Amino acid sequence: MITDCDVVVVGAGVAGLAAAAAVRAAGRSCVLIEASGRIGGRALTTTPPGFGGAWFDHGATWLHAAERNPLVGIAEAAGETVIDSDKHRNWRLQIGERAATPAEAAGFEAFRERFEAVVRPRARAEPDIAFAEAMAPLRDDPWAATVELWEAAQIAAADPVRFSLRDWDINDLDGGNRIVEGGIGAFIARRLGPAAGAVSLETRAERIDWAGPIRVETNRGTIRAEAAIVTVSTGVLGRIAFAPALPDAHQAALDGLPMGLLTKIAIPAVSADRLGLPDNISLRRQAVRGVPMMSFMAWPFGRPYLQGFVGGPAAWALAKEGAAATADFALAQVRALLGADATRSLGAPLVTGWAGDANFLGSYAYATVGNAGARGALGTPFADGRMIIAGEAVCTDGLAGTLGGAWLNGVQAARNAIAALRAAPQG
Ligand SMILES: Cc1cc2nc3c(=O)[nH]c(=O)nc-3n(C[C@H](O)[C@H](O)[C@H](O)COP(=O)(O)OP(=O)(O)OC[C@H]3O[C@@H](n4cnc5c(N)ncnc54)[C@H](O)[C@@H]3O)c2cc1C
Repeated sequence: MITDCDVVVVGAGVAGLAAAAAVRAAGRSCVLIEASGRIGGRALTTTPPGFGGAWFDHGATWLHAAERNPLVGIAEAAGETVIDSDKHRNWRLQIGERAATPAEAAGFEAFRERFEAVVRPRARAEPDIAFAEAMAPLRDDPWAATVELWEAAQIAAADPVRFSLRDWDINDLDGGNRIVEGGIGAFIARRLGPAAGAVSLETRAERIDWAGPIRVETNRGTIRAEAAIVTVSTGVLGRIAFAPALPDAHQAALDGLPMGLLTKIAIPAVSADRLGLPDNISLRRQAVRGVPMMSFMAWPFGRPYLQGFVGGPAAWALAKEGAAATADFALAQVRALLGADATRSLGAPLVTGWAGDANFLGSYAYATVGNAGARGALGTPFADGRMIIAGEAVCTDGLAGTLGGAWLNGVQAARNAIAALRAAPQG
């Protein structure tokens, strides 16, 4: 079967939904295809069995950089309950099983200031270096490994040894963090889904011919279009056959934007004691260099589970070992934080599987050293503007890796596609 349209959009995550909505709002015909059986991509809320009916976001959790995140305004205007997560969040910093003393906690704060004073200016100097290299002058501080783990492996999901310091600086997600009641994934599906219009689910782009008129070959037929917007992750992009191959500059940019990995693990409570922890408490331990470590948030807004995070190389190593090994690791981390008996109050962990899911192959992209410009390069339209790679990885607004960045980039991609249609000679 062959379908004709003005613009084909590949992928119905946030960027694809935003792009399709903008294309259709401009009066252009659009076919939106999605390989999986649902919309939302890396924004996914479910109510897992054994969680007492509570919802859990498998992927994105917060609307970061709230003051400049377009999705905050969209959620508020739609009457969603948008909650300032930071107002409710408490922090507990530990050294091993015990809480850091006030003097140790002050040492951590002082180190953060030193870190900003040393590393931030270096990020704006030439040449670009790896995040880990920028930390070298600070390595002797007992908090250096903790900040490196948090900034590179967890927030950016990156390998600190390969991670571009410039990219870290550009995408610093300063500002507030919001959640949407009922879950971010549910909000995306509820609010962005209807605006985007019809979606062909379980329709996978396998090959894209772009030498002449664009043809997207899928498992369910061919789509012919004047322009294409491809929003799959950088992990997946390399698996789609482009004919001709991607232009050299785009392939080089893609090579500079590997997928990072942040694995979320939710551990439900099976007793009412709640481990003596208040709601919304973030638990972090002082990191030891080279030793994998997780952080947790307990009972987010009263929901009966611990929400844990492991990122970067440790997350990839665990993904290779499998979900059962990752679950065991998470329970061992809880015991290391809260004592040997803590896991008696907890049930079987739910381990998210972004690394092994063929529709994602990781959590979000980071730029390797020297490749902070790769995001803009990969997102530059080619084939006379008719071919556009979009999504979180190519966001250049300082929100790369996030929902807000994916949305901004999807809208921009639609504008670019519409401009290319206008510029094309009439047939
Ligand atoms: C564990 C985790 C935690 C995160 N935490 C946050 C957070 O707190 N805040 C935040 O802002 N962001 C967070 N993110 C990142 C955020 O979820 C992503 O940046 C964003 O959802 C990416 O949207 P996208 O549209 O660019 O890509 P995607 O959501 O990946 O959309 C692309 C779509 O393409 C589909 N697809 C793949 N291959 C094909 C194909 N061949 N043909 C057709 N369709 C295809 C996929 O199924 C997917 O639906 C997190 C992500 C993860 C995984």
